[in-house]
Order: sequence, then structure tokens, then C-alpha cells
Amino acid sequence: MTKKAFITGINGQDGYYLAELLLSKNYHVFGITRNTALVSDKIEYLIGDLTDAASIQAAIDYAKPDEIYNLASQSHAHKSWHQSLDTAEVNAMGAHRLFDMAFKVNPDCKIFQASSMQMFGDANQSLQNEASPFNPNNPYAISKLYAHNIAKSYRNNYHRFISCGILYNHESPKRGMHFITQKVAYAAACLKHGIKQSCLLNEQGEPIVNHGKLLLGNLDAIRDWGHAADFVKAMWLMLQHNIPDDFIIATGINHSIRDLCEAAFTHVGLDWKKYIEIDQRFIRAQEITAIADISKIKNVLSWTPHVTFHQLISSMVDFHLSAIKSGHVLC
Ligand code: NDP
Repeated sequence: MTKKAFITGINGQDGYYLAELLLSKNYHVFGITRNTALVSDKIEYLIGDLTDAASIQAAIDYAKPDEIYNLASQSHAHKSWHQSLDTAEVNAMGAHRLFDMAFKVNPDCKIFQASSMQMFGDANQSLQNEASPFNPNNPYAISKLYAHNIAKSYRNNYHRFISCGILYNHESPKRGMHFITQKVAYAAACLKHGIKQSCLLNEQGEPIVNHGKLLLGNLDAIRDWGHAADFVKAMWLMLQHNIPDDFIIATGINHSIRDLCEAAFTHVGLDWKKYIEIDQRFIRAQEITAIADISKIKNVLSWTPHVTFHQLISSMVDFHLSAIKSGHVLC
């Protein structure tokens, strides 16, 4: 029998790759969207907003899904300081609402919740695993921890199948343009094409490439960057496992912003040092220092990431190179 999957946040980066994966496995895919204009012959779009209970109830009643992937989120940590109530409403209460409705319609439904490594916050451990303490320090991370804990409570107290992926950074050409990987990839492509003033703007409303320079914060800051296509495979595997559980999803390898600049600019044959300038406005007060321990997901689900850091960054730069060349640059 064809399995039915219900994806919230289908228009985001992970929603795109997950839908592709599930379609390749012959799922009937329902995508929840706030955009009324979307039509597709592969995906059945249903109008829904996690802040609107009636729309989510109607979508679940109609789809009667076997699997739900809750990817919808106000997903930008920095932005969450300016939109803290909206962030909580979508990420915390929206997720809770979804779980409650889904299990009322079908107690046997399996749910994946997209949790975040930001929940660890200031946790002072050099290696982070599923047992590491949470100490979230921004509204995004706090809202994600609420959803993570309520998911755990449905699992432990009501024996529902709900699994949380504690996701580290994952990128692709579909990543939002306000994330640093995209800015660096885009800047390398612009500068390769001789564009010194880009049409895409940063969060300050200034061109990402301004007077031939890209402004960044702390180049020594580190991140664990994986490819979204690898990560959605892990999400799917978690729901095929016989018991619900939490798993860290990461590569287990950290790279600095400096490494990122070097990878992107070297890919187009440019010396990054000539184009990057430090701007104090982009320096963050708190930075990550820990390494993700991915031994649990490797051992239990036999999952490992396949796309390397350099392949990931090159693919993002290539995407922008061809978008600029063909004139398909969204401004
Ligand atoms: P994106 O920001 O690309 O996508 C988020 C999606 O959520 C968008 O499609 C957006 O829809 C949708 N959305 C936002 N608000 C609502 C709402 N009120 N009701 C319904 N849908 C809504 O995120 P990613 O694909 O990158 O990430 C997927 C999940 O993984 C998110 O929950 C994110 O927080 C989490 N995560 C991601 C990480 C990463 O590195 N990518 C790291 C850690 C966690 P619209 O298009 O209408 O705006």
C-alpha cells in the first residue's frame, strides 16, 4: 500500500529534498504550505499554517498521513530576537498543536520533529551527544527545546512514535540567503563574474557584495556543515526504525568561516583574502566550540553523510555562478 507522508515546511530547503526522497520511494506526498498559489502534479499541496489550528486540523483530517515530518519553523536564530513571540507560536506551540491533532486522528502515526543543535546553547562540553545537557540561549533555541520536550513527553508518557533529529547546520543551493554559507558562495560567484555591487542584500539592507568586498564577522567561528540531501535521508531512516528515539544528525566535522571562504573562493580561482573584510556588526557574542558525536546514528541506523564539505560549498558556488550567468538572480 502506498504510504502517505505529510511535510510541514515543504517550501523550505529540507522540505524540497525530503519530498524528492519520498517521491523516489513512491510515497504520496502532502505538502503543507501558506502559499495558496502552489500546484504540482507530484505533490499534493494543502493550505496550512502551524499558527492556525483549523487549517492544520483540516489538512490532517484530509491526508490521514502515516508519517509526518515537522520541518516548518521560523528557522533563523538571530531573527528570533526580533520576533520572539512569533517564533514561539510557530516552533513551540505550532509543533505541539500538530502533534496533538495528528495523534488524535491516528495514534499510530509516526512523527519526525526537526530539533536543533542550538538547544545545547552554552552547554560546556567539547563533544555533544544525545545525552548532553540543553542550555538554550536565544528564543529560537528555547522554542525548539519546548517542541523537543513535548515530543519526548508524547513518546514516554503516551507511547506515541515521535522521533527528534537534533540537526546541526546543513546547507545546499536551496538554503535561505540570510545564512553565511549562501552569502559566501554568492559573493564568490558575483566576484568571479566581476560583479562588485550585488543586487541581493544582507540583513542590514546593504548589498552582500559591496564595493567588491564581502563583510563578515569572526572568521575563526566554527560550524558543522552537512548537505541537506544527506540529512533528510536520516530523517526518513528515523521513522523506519522500529523504536522512536532522538538522534544527533551532523557530520561530526567542524570547519571555520575561514575554511568556508577559502573553499568557495578557491573553487572559482580567487584569493579570498582580497575580498573579505571584518565588520564588528557581524561578530556574535557567543560562539559554538563543541563537536557533534554522531556515533549513535551511525551505529543504530547505519547513516553516514556522503557529501563532503568541499563538494557542498562547490555545489553552492556553482549554483550561483550559473544563476548569475543565465540572468536568473532573484533580487
Ligand atoms: P527553512 O527556513 O528553509 O524552511 C522553513 C519552512 O517553514 C518554510 O517553508 C516556511 O514556509 C515554513 N513555515 C514558517 N512558518 C510557518 C508557519 N507558521 N506555518 C507553516 N509553515 C511555516 O528551514 P530548513 O528547511 O533549513 O530547516 C528545516 C527544519 O530544520 C526547521 O525546523 C529548522 O528550524 C530545522 N533546522 C535546520 C537547520 C539547518 O541548518 N537548515 C539546523 C537545525 C534545525 P514559507 O515558505 O511559507 O515561509
